[in-house]
Amino acid sequence: MTAPQWTAQQALESVFGYSQFRGQQADIIDHIVAGGDALVLMPTGGGKSLCYQIPALVRPGVAIVVSPLIALMADQVAALQQLGVAAAYLNSTLDFDDQVAIERDLVSNALDIVYIAPERLLQPRTLELIQRCDIALFAIDEAHCVSQWGHDFRPEYRQLALLAQQFQDIPRVALTATADLPTRDEIVERLALEQAGHYLHSFDRPNIQYRVAEHGNAKQQLADFIDREHAGQAGIVYCLSRRKVEETAEWLSNAGYTALAYHAGLSPAMRAHNQSRFLREEGVIICATVAFGMGIDKPDVRFVAHVDLPASMEAYYQETGRAGRDGAPATAWMLYGLGDAVQRRRMIEQGNAPEERKRVERGKLDAMLAYCELATCRRANLLDYFGEQYPEPCGNCDTCLNPPETYDATRYARMALSAIYRTGQRFGTGYIVDHLRGAHGDRARDLGHDTLSTAGIGTDLAAKQWRSIVRQLVALGYVRVEQAYGGLQLAKGCRELLRGERVLELRADRRSQKARRSAKKELPPIEIEDEPLWEALRALRLELAREQDVPPYVIFHDATLRAMLAARPNDVDELAAIPGIGAKKRQAYGQAFIDAIAQHS
Ligand code: ADP
Ligand code: ZN
Repeated sequence: MTAPQWTAQQALESVFGYSQFRGQQADIIDHIVAGGDALVLMPTGGGKSLCYQIPALVRPGVAIVVSPLIALMADQVAALQQLGVAAAYLNSTLDFDDQVAIERDLVSNALDIVYIAPERLLQPRTLELIQRCDIALFAIDEAHCVSQWGHDFRPEYRQLALLAQQFQDIPRVALTATADLPTRDEIVERLALEQAGHYLHSFDRPNIQYRVAEHGNAKQQLADFIDREHAGQAGIVYCLSRRKVEETAEWLSNAGYTALAYHAGLSPAMRAHNQSRFLREEGVIICATVAFGMGIDKPDVRFVAHVDLPASMEAYYQETGRAGRDGAPATAWMLYGLGDAVQRRRMIEQGNAPEERKRVERGKLDAMLAYCELATCRRANLLDYFGEQYPEPCGNCDTCLNPPETYDATRYARMALSAIYRTGQRFGTGYIVDHLRGAHGDRARDLGHDTLSTAGIGTDLAAKQWRSIVRQLVALGYVRVEQAYGGLQLAKGCRELLRGERVLELRADRRSQKARRSAKKELPPIEIEDEPLWEALRALRLELAREQDVPPYVIFHDATLRAMLAARPNDVDELAAIPGIGAKKRQAYGQAFIDAIAQHS
């Protein structure tokens, strides 16, 4: 490309094949095209890339995109080349000849967009090279990597402030899907974006349905969930440990799913292989630790499952956010039990972090636990955590779809707290529950606990109900779990409860309720008579993708194939009306798809 000077709207239509900008895209693009700096906070799937890709085409010169995600650059560049954009990347994976060729193209102004790893950009040689080029803009993707409190801290990102000094008149745009305020401030400060326009998009992901289920037989629950709602679809299963990743992947594979493992203990080759199968094949489930996923821009991940508790609301938001980037319905499904809370707390306490950091971590864990135990809308709570008000219950989370019953649990809570206190704040949940239900063992008798005033006062509730109450007391911060031995102890706020000065509403245990089919809006099912054509379109897409060694969605998204199925265009010109088909793709693939359609009508 590089030759024509488009308007933003023209570029949107003829290069990307879309008719309208989304949300604030048009404002952001206008601002950058006019030479302004910008800070763009948008959730995953919100459409951040267009915010710098279109200015890259509209402004003269080459756009430099700084990204830490070396593993994804090849696919990102391939996707742009499919659209006819002159794109390339510079990172440590290139061999010398390719690198020289790209540097030559760069200086001769033959490129629209170049992706560069930060460490490469900061080399004096690269900076010197860029000084000789005509630069359209700098885009700093994954800008939260400047924050040392975030989980993706990259020291090189701090040095990107020098772009502001060395390239004073070139617009810089920082983009991230990480929402919280401290990170936002840090980006502005560290990247010298004081003059930048701020574009804060809502962080709501309306197409993601949030659900939390009680931890039981985790693997079977997971398989049931997938069978019921996401059979044959791509998903990510997050586990806390490498061992659990391996076990889960193996179990799912034995049960007949295509499931692969991904964690930092695997060889780089194995990781790359599994990631690439996830991206390139359809319906692959990846079982992973948090090491997986940053920047994975596979649009059709239909579910993200957490079989262990995420570390924080930020992590949960980011991990679940990898589902449904294409805007179609997707599910964020999590299992939660008290064991998770205990394990997480132990990890914090036994870690080497300074006390100040531990305090932050404890606060994050508490917020996460409270989320799990919510009796009200999960989406509202999640957005509230990021400082955003959600006006009403969302209708697309488990507590909205199937409101939990709550009851006045003050009396029971007081019984449990008294039992914990009288038995000396040394015993775990099992012991306390037995004590309340009068099931005293030898040990309890030896200690004389069977004669305490709290012994056997809770026989009207089942053990399972008591466990639910204890779990909620922990989640709500009335009870603490002591680290070394897991003993329960009284915590802040429980005096008022014990004195009867506070009423406590807890959610009723929903153990007997059968999981129901979700009420989410599915894409309309494919009519039986359309099946052969649908399969033919998918097969054609897969064949084209294989030929070029790119993931199928780089050729066309599902939504584009669906639109073809519905419209049944008769010739290549009619394809222009289908969303997601720009001029280049129409030319490259249009006839093949038209032929496939003709064969089936
Ligand atoms: P992000 O980087 O914010 O996670 P992307 O830039 O990858 O999101 O965009 C997510 C998806 O939305 C992509 O498939 C992209 O093609 C699509 N998209 C972006 N902007 C538009 C638009 N204006 N109209 C239609 N689809 C769009
Ligand atoms: Zn809701």
